[in-house]
Amino acid sequence: MRARVRRSTMAAPIALEVTVLSEIPATAPGQAIATEVVIIGAGPCGLFQVFELGLLGIGAHLIDSLQHPGGQCAELYPQKPIYDIPALPVCGAQELVDRLLKQIEPFHPTFHLGQEVVEFKRQENGRFHVGTSTGTTFDAGTVVIAAGVGSFQPRRIGIEGSEAFEGSKLHYRVKNSSSFHGQHLVVFGGGDSALDWTLELLPKARSLTLVHRRPEYRAAPASVAKMQDHVAAGRMKVYEALPHSFILDNGALRGINIKARDGATHALAADQLLVFFGLHPKVGAIAAWGLELLFKALKVDTEKFQTSLAGVFAVGDINTYPGKKKLILSGFHEAALAAFAIQHHLYPQKKQFLQYTTTSPIMHQRLGVPD
Ligand SMILES: Cc1cc2nc3c(=O)[nH]c(=O)nc-3n(C[C@H](O)[C@H](O)[C@H](O)COP(=O)(O)OP(=O)(O)OC[C@H]3O[C@@H](n4cnc5c(N)ncnc54)[C@H](O)[C@@H]3O)c2cc1C
Repeated sequence: MRARVRRSTMAAPIALEVTVLSEIPATAPGQAIATEVVIIGAGPCGLFQVFELGLLGIGAHLIDSLQHPGGQCAELYPQKPIYDIPALPVCGAQELVDRLLKQIEPFHPTFHLGQEVVEFKRQENGRFHVGTSTGTTFDAGTVVIAAGVGSFQPRRIGIEGSEAFEGSKLHYRVKNSSSFHGQHLVVFGGGDSALDWTLELLPKARSLTLVHRRPEYRAAPASVAKMQDHVAAGRMKVYEALPHSFILDNGALRGINIKARDGATHALAADQLLVFFGLHPKVGAIAAWGLELLFKALKVDTEKFQTSLAGVFAVGDINTYPGKKKLILSGFHEAALAAFAIQHHLYPQKKQFLQYTTTSPIMHQRLGVPD
């Protein structure tokens, strides 16, 4: 696939479907990336927005706080079948994402993954400043907010004072796996992230204990079986328990007390705690950007899908208007109309006319198909 991908250093252990790197525009450190469109959110609607813009000859950069594209489809229900995508009687949710990625290949969007958009400002010249949690900045002609139900955030450990240890002793993501080598580790969780990191770090850790609240795991059965083999061979320990309180020594974290299902507490010495309790969406910063909201959704018109600020559009689950239905096909329609409005906003002198992909030579050229 030819899309360009810029990930933060928060690499996931699992190989991603979207690989690829090519032709990332050179920008000096600290220099804003100039672009016609920034799309916030690489869920199905953000991805299809790339396609509709691409047909009109408009390029886009996509930003997502997740490490992979696909939004709710990829994060919440990748294996589930979807039955209401037009002309696809049944389509797996991850399959839909893969198909959308394939469809937008000709337009070479640049992905900025693992980055949350935390700054947004209209500039005096009418363009937009967009900044991410990893320091990437954009100077965009227009912005499309396709943020769905919000940016996915890790569920936290739920022990008072835990924020003080985040990033140093307590981790919800692995930024640099080598920093855990030779350490006493306690890993929490029963999903794929917890099991993948357990298996990855076990051979390099000084010790590793896995803590999960129940005997059943959500992770791939093969990973669970491998972990159980390691436990049987005495290479690691596993507990059915919940985190209870930190073990502190003059304020320094030395380990964690866990509470087992039978009520017993166990003290686990640890250098580092890794917590993988899954992700939950948070509308977060977007609600503070001064755009008109209704029940945490962005109000848009149904002609352009423009928000209360000219040049800023919203498609998919994040928007609201009379009759709004949070369905993927609604978001696809919104993206098509928003693309024409974006073109008009960027190039008001340009005459607009509808062309069919079936017959338009210019669209064939943009799609890279023979005329
Ligand atoms: C279990 C389940 C089953 C479903 N089944 C169907 C179905 O059968 N048919 C159907 O039509 N719909 C279905 N849906 C709904 C469908 O998934 C949503 O309508 C669709 O995902 C919305 O797409 P989106 O692109 O608007 O947002 P999302 O898929 O939510 O993607 C938004 C993306 O934006 C990112 N983001 C948000 N804020 C920021 C930020 N500040 N910075 C960076 N990134 C950000 C998020 O990380 C996310 O990846 C289902 C939903 C669920 C949960």
